Amino acid sequence: MSDKSTDFGDGTRAVRAGLPEPVKYEPTLPGPVFAAHFHLPGEPTGPYTYGRDENPTWTLLERAIGELEAPGRDDVETLVFPSGMAAISAVLFSQVRTGDVVVLPNDGYQALPLVRRQLEEYGIEVRTAPTGGDAQLEVLDGASLLWIETPSNPGLDVCDVRRLAEEAHARGCLVAVDNTLATPLGQRPLDLGADFAVASGTKQLTGHGDVLLGYVASRNAALMASVRRWRKIVGAIAGPMEAWLAHRSLATLQLRADRQNANALALAEALRGRPEVTGLRYPGLADDPSHEIASRQMRRFGCVVSFSLPTRAHADRFLEALRLVDDATSFGGVRSTAERRGRWGGDAVAEGFVRFSCGAEDTDDLVADVLRALDESAD
Ligand SMILES: *Cc1c(COP(=O)(O)O)cnc(C)c1O
Repeated sequence: MSDKSTDFGDGTRAVRAGLPEPVKYEPTLPGPVFAAHFHLPGEPTGPYTYGRDENPTWTLLERAIGELEAPGRDDVETLVFPSGMAAISAVLFSQVRTGDVVVLPNDGYQALPLVRRQLEEYGIEVRTAPTGGDAQLEVLDGASLLWIETPSNPGLDVCDVRRLAEEAHARGCLVAVDNTLATPLGQRPLDLGADFAVASGTKQLTGHGDVLLGYVASRNAALMASVRRWRKIVGAIAGPMEAWLAHRSLATLQLRADRQNANALALAEALRGRPEVTGLRYPGLADDPSHEIASRQMRRFGCVVSFSLPTRAHADRFLEALRLVDDATSFGGVRSTAERRGRWGGDAVAEGFVRFSCGAEDTDDLVADVLRALDESAD
């Protein structure tokens, strides 16, 4: 039986992803391998020589993520990193050279402006455009790398990955998609034509708020060789314990995503009727501006809902009044979190803008807690 079969459903693939063939008296998922070096008599050939280059715990996790990002394909290669930013930097800084042009979203992850500054210091021209309306198309001429983040964080706009990838490739431009918010069970950028699927595994992929992780997946071996070289020279490597925890967490990805995303839809529907809520966004809502493209290219719409309350003070009162929802940054965990995004600066959001990440609580409990907190925080 091939675990990679596309015949299996997401839950079946998630619980089996990356597992080795069973070995008598061995655990199903081998424990983390802690090794700076491996015994290596004679000629120094792989697979395991030195711990910065390869580790068996990464190998299993990389195989697992590859099976989810590109089911049924033998040509996908995945590399894990110690954080999403390490993965993002690995792609950008291994692929672009002085004089190149890179197109970033202007409404993406909050560290992208820092990345922009670093790229510019290396003599790379950076252009930006919004995610919505495929606006990055307008600034693509002459670019060598297009960076897409869809749905965008925190605004939840969606762009047409297939269309952007076709237009980019017609101009000889590589395409990377940040797949953090959707997870590979929500969307498969490589199937949509992207050269790289990149993500933070810190969010819903691992889902417990206790691990930082990132990965890069691609079906282009030459591109991956340069990303691998980057990992080796920068030394941005995941700890074996984190890699093992991440692999263990993948088994429940479909269960968590289905519950959390159902909670997000229920919450969005409940918020729709509230007069104090404006700018409500969830790609799974039938009348959301992102819904049409999202339902064409996504299989799940994520666990994040965004909306605004009238003022900063109102949003702070709301967050304070929540009992089942922690005021915390990040998203994707099994316990709901929410935050007033404007407290960080950097995102172009209103003072009362709330990014809400739905956990795996019972839907009725979560929605009731939010509606009660809204009532209690009303002016
Ligand atoms: C969190 C996040 C990142 C960065 O990931 P880390 O694991 O925190 O380094 C990148 N992109 C998106 C969309 C994110 O939400």
